[in-house]
Order: sequence, then structure tokens, then C-alpha cells
Amino acid sequence: MPDQRTGRRMEPTGTARRGDWLIWTMALLLVVYLAGLVLPAAGLRSLVDGWLGPATQWIPAVLCWRAVYRTRFRRMLVLLAAGAVTVFASANTYYILQVGDGTALSFPSPAEFGYLTFYPLMLGSLAILVYRQLRALPPAVSLDSAVGALGTGALLAAVLSPLLLTAQAGEPTLASVVATAFPLFDLVLVAAVVGVASARGLDVGARWGFLVGGLLVFAATDLVYAEQVAVDSYAVGTVLDGGWAVGLALVAVWVDGLTRPLHAGGRRRTGAWTLIVPMVSTASGVLVLVLGTQVKLSALAVGLATLTLAGASLRTAVAFRDLGRMADLRRQTRTDDLTGLPNRRALYLDVPLRLSAAGGPRSALMLLDLDRFKEVNDSLGHDVGDELLVQVGRRLAAQLRPRDLLARLGGDEFAILLDGAGPVEAEAVAATVQTAIAEPFTLAGISLQTSVSVGIALYPEQSDNLTGLLRKADMAMYKAKSGGTGHHVYRSTDDSHGDSRLRTVQELRSALREDQLVLHYQPKIDLATGEANCVEALVRWQHPARGLLQPGQFLDLVEESGLMHAMTHAVLNKALDQAMRWQSQGQPLAVAVNLSARSLLDTELPGRVRAMLSSRALPASSLTLEITEEFLMSDRERARDILTQLRDTGIRIAVDDFGTGYSSLAYLRDLPIDELKLDRSFIFPMADDARAAALVSSIVDLAHSLGMTAVAEGVEDSIAYDELVRYGCDQAQGYHMSRPLPVAELDAWLVRRRAAVPTA
Ligand code: C2E
Ligand code: MG
Ligand code: MG
Repeated sequence: MPDQRTGRRMEPTGTARRGDWLIWTMALLLVVYLAGLVLPAAGLRSLVDGWLGPATQWIPAVLCWRAVYRTRFRRMLVLLAAGAVTVFASANTYYILQVGDGTALSFPSPAEFGYLTFYPLMLGSLAILVYRQLRALPPAVSLDSAVGALGTGALLAAVLSPLLLTAQAGEPTLASVVATAFPLFDLVLVAAVVGVASARGLDVGARWGFLVGGLLVFAATDLVYAEQVAVDSYAVGTVLDGGWAVGLALVAVWVDGLTRPLHAGGRRRTGAWTLIVPMVSTASGVLVLVLGTQVKLSALAVGLATLTLAGASLRTAVAFRDLGRMADLRRQTRTDDLTGLPNRRALYLDVPLRLSAAGGPRSALMLLDLDRFKEVNDSLGHDVGDELLVQVGRRLAAQLRPRDLLARLGGDEFAILLDGAGPVEAEAVAATVQTAIAEPFTLAGISLQTSVSVGIALYPEQSDNLTGLLRKADMAMYKAKSGGTGHHVYRSTDDSHGDSRLRTVQELRSALREDQLVLHYQPKIDLATGEANCVEALVRWQHPARGLLQPGQFLDLVEESGLMHAMTHAVLNKALDQAMRWQSQGQPLAVAVNLSARSLLDTELPGRVRAMLSSRALPASSLTLEITEEFLMSDRERARDILTQLRDTGIRIAVDDFGTGYSSLAYLRDLPIDELKLDRSFIFPMADDARAAALVSSIVDLAHSLGMTAVAEGVEDSIAYDELVRYGCDQAQGYHMSRPLPVAELDAWLVRRRAAVPTA
């Protein structure tokens, strides 16, 4: 993969590049040099000290500068590290050459200056390495670093204690102070590197182990050196000199590894690591303190150990806080924000576990969907819709046993897993749930009724996995919804019936395309004269496989699948075609067409309806549009505008199912309305219930006082019919007079009717 910054191919990481001749040459020279130091052969002394020594210092420097070149001089940290190695090599070469010449070096010499410069440069390089990345990482990472560094520092300071104590005890000379400073600086560097390496997510370069190794070798060498200086026994050309060469070579290998880009968060370490750093550091701190009780340790070691323990306990506290947060987060990702119930994710995680647990040999998965929830949302707003979902969630939960799982899957869909339930138990629960949901809800001061459709799938006989169960429960739910049965247990025939939603939506599209929608007409009887001058067009779907479907079986789906405009258009065309036919047959009948809530958001509707009427030369008065109360609330201004335009054309506007909506009556004053159609739920109880009868009579009066026509729906018997006549209701519609009929049957009905009720 080419490195985007340099355009070069990226180097393989982790180990020395295969065939990197420079690194291998360096290694070889080192071995020879060390061998030369160990096996002193008098003749070779000048070769070993004068040539091999400096070479082993300079090849690391060359390696570093090659890295600088490879990174196009753009990476300050590589540059600083190369500088550090170079000053060290220069200082060492100077020292060896001077001492090798037999010149006594004055103190402090340029060599000391070079050795000491090594440390700030290395620290600077490390600081840059860390600083850039830390900004992208959480603060706890810095704490990890600090604790790791302190722990290492404490351990190394303990090791250095004898040296430090001797230095303190004796008369300090500048030389011994400087000599003591070297291992102390090494200690700082090692601690810093270990600190950085202990931070999760920090990239310290692929070969950070080489760096730690190199610095440790340095520290050990410097330690021995300091002790030798203290007793004035150091001499050039012993194995000790090899220590610096090895340390420098290892550092250079690390620098060489920096030529690939670093990434904060690049090294992935998981949860356990969070606790390992404070644990290991605590152990080092305790170890140092315990050691302090046995032997005399420097104040530095004791101080660092104490700080380590403090830091580690802080880190542990932070780790536990983080774990707590993670648990919270986990809970949150599995909880539905609105209802506080488990969400879809939780269902997918929990159900498989519950199913596989040997707890119950069988289970039932129920899928619940509120009926006409969209209407509530559209008409009363999302706040009310949300509140309804919350209350539904509570009621559902109240019907279940604690061990059942209830989840909200999204929208108005809920799922329940009933442990140990078969079809009988599941149906019983479904029935209780339905009853509970059927009770009116009070939302924003409005009493609202809703219902729920429940699909049930059984484990293990119908599916042994969640996906299968959900699919089957969904089909069963759809069956329950379209059949209006409330709940339904999945049967294998449900599959072949094409009840799956997806399939039905596709079928709906082709129904519209292939003209499978038919209209049945139900006469509206003028109660004063007994005449039928108007009919309501009611849509049906002549399904190729399932036969004639009623609107309740497919309207929700038409709405949900966004096909409502197309359907309204088709119904209007058919109804007006039929009105034209009746007119040409010399028996004009006005038609009423139902509009959905959506239609009143369609600003082009008035224009289209006008064009439909005029292309058929029909008077506008031959069309009534029925709207329901709900959508008067959605976008009142727009609805008023559209209704006014329609009304101005001469089209009649009726409010359908009057009395069942959630709106206040104020709209009756504001909106252009010609007709109120009393919902059949007021008409049915009229015969037995005086209050219902009084209500109907009052609504009729209300309509009249507002200059509107009162129409009664659902007149099923002559008692209701006669009462309505008595109340002065204008028109009535119902099975008592006629069911909705196909055109031919309606024509025959009209003929019979006209014969029975001669027109005045
Ligand atoms: P709706 O507009 O209130 O229509 C009256 C419904 O009451 C019809 O049901 C009708 O068959 C039924 N009905 C009439 N008389 C009686 C009776 O005496 N007793 C009983 N129990 N029922 C009676 P249908 O045809 O099933 O239509 C249901 C609803 O579907 C309609 O209620 C209307 O809201 C909607 N709908 C029907 N056609 C269309 C359409 O073309 N477009 C739209 N948007 N909605 C439609
Ligand atoms: Mg209607
Ligand atoms: Mg109605």
C-alpha cells in the first residue's frame, strides 16, 4: 500500500525489514566489536577502539538520518531522535579518540556536553510522539501513562538507590555528579517510554521494545560507569563501552521503524488492559516500599513508589467509573428512548438466549401493531402520538408476567416473548392485551380510543429462530389486521395467501395499474321524501386470488405505501364516470367520494377535481367529498384553503363519521362544510338508549343551526329510521335501506325503490 504522504511504498512493520543491509551490517559490526572487547588481542586494540568503536556509533546515526530522509524531513520526532543519536555518537567518538590518544580529558569536556544533550533531544522526540496523539485520546490515557511511568521510575530508582546513596554520602565532585546524572536521566527516559507504552491506543512506533531495550542497556551501562567513576576505576576499551554501542544501535532500530505513519488508537487493547497498568504499577510501588523496609532506599525511590500508589488508585477509580459508564451505555443502547422498554436490539440479543435456554420447551412470539396509529400522529401531532405509545407500553407491561419480554421495535410496533406459552396461552394473553388497549386513553385532555392487532408465532414448531418467528408473527399480524380479528396465530396457509405486507404492496400497485378496484354504491335516502338522489361510492378490491376485499382490509396499507393519491384519483374517475352514465340515462344521481386525510394536503386536488367534472360536463353539485374530522387538525390552514376552493366550485363537503374524531367542534365554525354524517356508533344504540337518542337529536339540531345537512349512517332497522325522521334528520344511509351494491344491483334496487316510493 503506498504511503500517501511520501508516495513511497510503506515498509513492513514490527521486525527489521527483510534484507535491510544497513541494520544487518550494524548488527555484524556490533558482534565483531563486542568480540574484540571481550577477547583483547594486543595487536588489534587500535582497530577495535579506534575504528570499530566509532563505526558502531556512527552506523546507528546513519540509520537514523536515512529515516529522516525517508520521512522527507517532515517529522520532527524522527529529526530529534536522529539528532540525539548523532550527538551521542559524536561525543563518544570524540572521547574515545581523545582518550585513545592518551590525552587526559579535562572535565567537563565537549564529550560530556554531547552525552547530556542526548537526553533532552530524546525526551523532546517522545514528547512530540505523545502530544500529537494524546489530543485524540481520552484523559484516562494520560493517567495510564503517568502511572506506568511512575511505577517504572520507582523500580529503577530502587535499583539506582545504592548509587544515589553513595553519591549523597560522599563528597560530591562535578565528575561524580555528572556520572550519577546519566543513569538518572536514563531512568527518566525509560520511565517515560514505559509510561507511553502503557497508554491504551498510543502508538509508540512499531519497534518500541527496541527503544525500551536500548534505554535499559544505556541505564545499566551508565550505572556501572557511575560506580567506576566514583572509585576512579573506569578505563576505555572494556566490555562496558559495548553497552553504549548496543544501546545506541537498539535506539536507532526504533527510529528506523518510525518511518511508517503513526496512528492514535492504532494499537487496540481491550478492557483488561485498563486494569493491568494500575495493577502492575501498584505491584511495583508496593514492592519498592516493602524493599524499603529491608534495605535503605533513596528518597527518590520511596517518593516515586508512593506517588505510583496514589496514581494507581486514582487510575483504578477512573477505570471503575468508565466501566460504570460502559454499563450505562450498554443499557442505553438496548433501551427504547421513548418508552423505556427494551428495543429491537435488545430483542435480537435476548430472545436467542432465552430460546436456547432450557427454561421452557416452548414459547410464543407476539407482534403487536396499533391500528390507525398514523392517523393519531397526523391529526393530533407527534407529541400526542408519542404519549400514546408510552401509555400503550405501560398497559402492555401491566398485562404480562415479569418473566415475559416486552420490547418496542419502532413506530407503533411492539413484540412480546411469552416463555413457556403455547397457542392457547398466547391467544389468551393476546385477548387480554387487546382489551387493555381498547380502554380509552387520555392524552392532552382528549379521550382517545385505539386498538391493536396481534400476530402470534410459535416456537419451536413454527420456527426455531427469532428471524423466522418475527417473519411469521408479522404475517399473522397482518392477517389479524386485514381480517379485523384482533389477533391471529400463524398458520402455514397464511404464507401462501400472499398476506405478507411486501407482497400485498406490490399487488396493490398492480391493482391500480390493472384496474382491479371496483366501486360499490350505497344510496343516501332523503328522509323527507324517501327518494334516493345521492349515493356514496365505497371502494373494493377485486383481488385475483383472495376475492373481493373490503376497504378495512387494504386502506391502511394504501396509506402506508404512499398509494393514497393514486387510489383517490382512480376512485374519483370511476365515480364521476358512473355519475355521467346515470346522467346520460336520464336519472342523475349525485355521488359522494371519501377522501383520506392525506388528500387535504394535496394543493392540486381542487384543480384536478374541477377538470374531472368539466371534462364530463357534470355540474359540481353532483359531487360530494367526504372528509373525516382527524385531518382537519393536521394543517388547518392548508385544509381550509383546499376545502374553500372545492366549495367555491360548487362541490359539497361532508364531515364523515362525525362525533368519533378527536377534534374540538370549533372547526365547524371555521371551515366550509355542507353536511354532517353522524357516525353509526350513535345510531346503533338509539333504540335502547335515551341518551344516545338525545345526542342524535341534538346533533341534527346543531347541523341545522349551522346551516348544514344532517345525515345518519348505519341505519339498520325501521325503529332508527322512524326516529331519525322524527328528529328531522335530512338523510339516512344503512343496511335497512340498502347495503353498498355494485352498479347493476343498485340500478335494479333503484327501479324497485322508485316503484315502491312514487316521486312526488
Ligand atoms: P364510511 O365512509 O363511513 O362508509 C360507510 C361504511 O359503513 C361502509 O363501510 C358501509 O358499508 C358501512 N355501512 C353502511 N351502512 C351500514 C349499516 O347499516 N351498518 C353497518 N354496520 N355498516 C354500514 P365500508 O364500505 O367497509 O367502508 C369503510 C370505510 O372505508 C368508509 O367508511 C370510508 O371511510 C373508507 N372508504 C371506503 N371507500 C373509500 C375510498 O374510496 N376512499 C377512501 N379514502 N376511503 C374509503
Ligand atoms: Mg364515507
Ligand atoms: Mg362514515
